[in-house]
Amino acid sequence: MSDLLLIAPMAAEQRALKARAPGARVVRSGVGPRRARRAATSLATARAAGVAVAGFGGALSPELEPGELVVATELRARDGSVRDQCPGAEVIAAMLRRAGLRVHTGPITSVRSPVLGAGARARLRSSSGAIAADMESAWLAPAAAGRPFVVVRAILDAPGSEPWHPFSALRSVISATNALQAAAGVLGEWANVISPRELVLAAPRASCAGVERAIEVVERTLDRYGPPVYMRKQIVHNRHVVSELERRGAVCVDELDEVPDGATVVFSAHGVSPRVREQARRKELNVIDATCPLVSKVHAEARRFADDGYSIVLVGHGGHEEIEGTAGEAPNHVTVIASAEEVDGLDVDDPGRVAYLTQTTLAVDETKGVVSRLRERFPDIVGPRSDDICYATQNRQDAVKALARSCDLVLVVGSRNSSNSNRLVEVAERHGCKARLLDEQSDVDPHWFEGVERVGVTAGASSPERIMRRVAGALEVLGPVSVSEHAVAAEEVKFTLPREVRA
Ligand code: SF4
Repeated sequence: MSDLLLIAPMAAEQRALKARAPGARVVRSGVGPRRARRAATSLATARAAGVAVAGFGGALSPELEPGELVVATELRARDGSVRDQCPGAEVIAAMLRRAGLRVHTGPITSVRSPVLGAGARARLRSSSGAIAADMESAWLAPAAAGRPFVVVRAILDAPGSEPWHPFSALRSVISATNALQAAAGVLGEWANVISPRELVLAAPRASCAGVERAIEVVERTLDRYGPPVYMRKQIVHNRHVVSELERRGAVCVDELDEVPDGATVVFSAHGVSPRVREQARRKELNVIDATCPLVSKVHAEARRFADDGYSIVLVGHGGHEEIEGTAGEAPNHVTVIASAEEVDGLDVDDPGRVAYLTQTTLAVDETKGVVSRLRERFPDIVGPRSDDICYATQNRQDAVKALARSCDLVLVVGSRNSSNSNRLVEVAERHGCKARLLDEQSDVDPHWFEGVERVGVTAGASSPERIMRRVAGALEVLGPVSVSEHAVAAEEVKFTLPREVRA
């Protein structure tokens, strides 16, 4: 086990931690603020890569039970003022959960005497906003002295489990001690990967103009018409964005059958087929169309080629909403393929009258391979006037290629169903770099970082910048980071809003 300094206030906690963290230096601070302050001063210069306070704590939230763990996101005073931030708490909590422990994250407040009784716990919870309390962590925090710092408390007593009854108190001590021991092993694994690292942020990254527009359309529609506003499919492929809009009164549905007649509905950035527009008309829905103008451009191309009698080869991922919408513009003319291997099996009416279109979020290099195969088989094939793969996809892939050349690991922030985010992972891997897709900071697995010195970070076009910033901030728990940016292009694209929601 590496350079871990584990600080436990009481002897029983120290014993529990030592049993499962044999390589760590486990130090007893003593109970209460005065001893904690003194210990922090002497430990601030102790040799260690990471510092953790681990011990028992009392629950303030009724959701916590004895034997569960709390990882502090912040250390707070009794009045709720923040004494210290704990970046990366979600990363440590996720490690503990992966080890099978029951874990909560939230603020912990440090107080001068034990808090017992449901009334006292509720009052402290309300004044501090904390979910658990202890008597040392806030005063021990200076021991970290700029090093990665974690506070883990095993719940010993809770609103429904006051320690009045000896038998239930004993049961609580046993379950909290077991949890603390298990946590010690996980903290040891954490300490093993602590190391200084360079973080290189890709530019451009994160939300594109089409995604920002779609989100703004839903927000403005909610302001203008009031909830509920129905979104057909996820407005953009990002879990966080959809949940936030749902909290404000938007309702995500798969099909218009789920929308009451006459209601207000927003079509997603990925676009819809004429069949869906016709259904909306029959149901007399108030439609606000958030289809990205670059997707609408591909729809128009499909209509034009179909009107001119072409067989259309649509290169993209079958089942993706954008492909369903585009193919629906000319269902009798369109064949969807995803790879160059499928070109040989294509069956067209007239090989001299074939056109191709592509999904906007494909991997640029792979698509070039499919198109050149199409050109070999159909020398007269025609394509779109300008490339269908959009500027945002191209720029983000160029930026991730640049990162892949110089980094040991690339993190792509985006949801699993985000096509453009998945393509970024593939592009990084094709350029010889290990890459991981993650939705949020709790998806960070510290084991990915073993031997990694330079980490590239980007986000898919459907993922907001703030989520990527949270992930980058959480990496501080794995060691000191120096942050730089590698830009390959500047983006100033902005689309106008639909008429119905313009100011
Ligand atoms: S990725 Fe491209 S096509 Fe898709 S919403 Fe963004 S700008 Fe529009």
